[in-house]
Amino acid sequence: MAVYDPGSLKAEEFINDEEIRATLKWAEENKDNEELIDRILEKARPVRKGGSFSCPGLTHREASLLLACENPEKIEEMYQIAEEIKLAFYGNRIVIFAPLYLSNYCVNGCLYCPYHSTNRRIPRKKLTQEEVRGEVTALQDMGHKRLAIEAGEDPVNNPIDYILECIRTIYGVHHQNGDIRRVNVNIAATTVENYRKLKEAGIGTYILFQETYHKESYLKLHPTGPKHDYDYHTQAMDRAMEGGIDDVGLGVLFGLERYKYEFAGLLMHAEHLEAVHGVGPHTISIPRVKRADDIDPSAFDNGIDDETFARITACIRLAVPYTGMIISTRESEEVRTRLLRLGISQVSGGSRTSVGGYTQKERPHDTEQFDVSDQRSLDEVVRWLMKNGHIPSFCTACYREGRTGDRFMSLCKNGQILNCCHPNALMTLAEYLEDYASEETRRTGLQMIDEELKRIPTEKVRATAQENIRQIRNMGRRDFRF
Ligand code: SAM
Repeated sequence: MAVYDPGSLKAEEFINDEEIRATLKWAEENKDNEELIDRILEKARPVRKGGSFSCPGLTHREASLLLACENPEKIEEMYQIAEEIKLAFYGNRIVIFAPLYLSNYCVNGCLYCPYHSTNRRIPRKKLTQEEVRGEVTALQDMGHKRLAIEAGEDPVNNPIDYILECIRTIYGVHHQNGDIRRVNVNIAATTVENYRKLKEAGIGTYILFQETYHKESYLKLHPTGPKHDYDYHTQAMDRAMEGGIDDVGLGVLFGLERYKYEFAGLLMHAEHLEAVHGVGPHTISIPRVKRADDIDPSAFDNGIDDETFARITACIRLAVPYTGMIISTRESEEVRTRLLRLGISQVSGGSRTSVGGYTQKERPHDTEQFDVSDQRSLDEVVRWLMKNGHIPSFCTACYREGRTGDRFMSLCKNGQILNCCHPNALMTLAEYLEDYASEETRRTGLQMIDEELKRIPTEKVRATAQENIRQIRNMGRRDFRF
C-alpha cells in the first residue's frame, strides 16, 4: 500500500487515499472541539509585523477540520478571517481575465464535458490563425489584457505546435491601444519538453484542473483517452515545473466527488508542490459542474449548494493565504459577489465559452463548453467590482518583470502589494477607463483612482503613479508598471 509522502513524485504517495480518509475521520471526530477550532482559527489569522503581514497557512488536516465544523459562529469567524487575509495579501484588487477557446476537438471521454469524443451533436471547430486574430481583436476591443487559452486534447488537431502558434499570434495582435500581455494556458497534461516550449513561448500560468483527486472516481469519469491515466494527470504540475514553468494553477471540478475529499486532496497537492519545488500553486480555481450540451449536472451525485461553496472558498483562503483564487462566469453575479469577500482574487468577465464566440454578435451556444451564468459585459463587470469596493486590475506586471514563482510569493509575503500591485492596478484601470469604458464606468473609475492613490504608502511611488496616470489620460501613454 502507498505510504503518504508529500515530497514524493508518485501521485499515490503525495495524494494519498489513506491519509485523506484518516484526515476526514479525524476532522469528523473533532468538529465539535471548540478549543481546537479556536486554536486553528488563531493560527490562520494574519499577524501584522511592522509594515507587513505574515500568515503561516494551515495544513490539510487543520483546514479539513474547519471545513467539517458546523458551528455558525465559528463559520462566521472563518469568513471574517478569509476577508482579512485577502485584504492583507492581495489588497482590494481583483484581477480580470477572459478565456479564449481555441479548439473543441478532443479525444478524451470525460463524462462531465460536452467536448467528449463521442458527442456527435456538436460541431467541431478549431480556430485558424486568422480567426485567432479576429477573436483577440474582439477581446482587446472589450479591454482585456490577460487571457486563459483553452483547448480539448487532440494530438492530431491541436498538437503543441498549434498551441504555440496561437500564443505567438495572440501576443502579436495590437488593435488600437490593445495588447494581450499575459497568456495563461489551460491544456491537457503533457510532457516536460512541451512544458518547456510553453515556457519559451512566454506563457503566464499553466492551469490544469485535477477534476477529482479520488482515483477510483477519476478512472470512471475519464473512461477513455489519454486523460484516463490518473498518475500522468496528477503528476503534470511536477513536469510543468521541471520544464521551467514557475506559476501553476490547480483546481477541482466540484460536484463530481465528495467535496471534503476533494478539499483535502487539493491542499495536499499544494503542500506537495511546496515540499518538492519550494513554491505552492500560483492560483486555485474552484469551478462547479454546469449544464452543457449533453451534460446534466444532476447526473453527478455530489453537487454542492452555495453555502457549502462559500465555506470551501473561505477555508481554502485560510489554508493557502498567498495563492490567488479564481472564480469564473460559471457562477452567477450573486454568488460571485459573495465569494469576492471570502478570498477570491481573480475573476473572468465578458466570457464566451465557445470556439469563435467573441466575434459573433449573439452569444453562440453550439460549441459552448458550459452555460455561462454571469453573462454581463466586461464594462458591467468592471463597474460592479468598483461598486462593491474592489479595484478591477488589468495588471500583468509581475510575470513581465520576472516576478514569478517564489519571487511573486515573497512580494506578497513582504507586504509590498500596496507599493507595487496597488499602483499597477490603478494605472491599468486608468488605461481601461480611457480606452474602453462607458461614461458611467469611467466616472466611477476616476473617482476610485483618486481615492485609492491616497492609500499608496511610499510618497515617491504615489507621486510616480499619479504622474503616470496623468500621462495615460492626457498624453496617450500606455503600459507603465512597477
Ligand atoms: N482539455 C483540457 C484538460 O483536459 O485539462 C483543459 C481545458 S477544459 C476546456 C477546462 C476545464 O473545464 C476542465 O478542466 C473542466 O474542469 C471544466 N469543465 C468541463 N466540463 C465542464 C462542465 N460541464 N461544467 C463546468 N466546467 C466544466
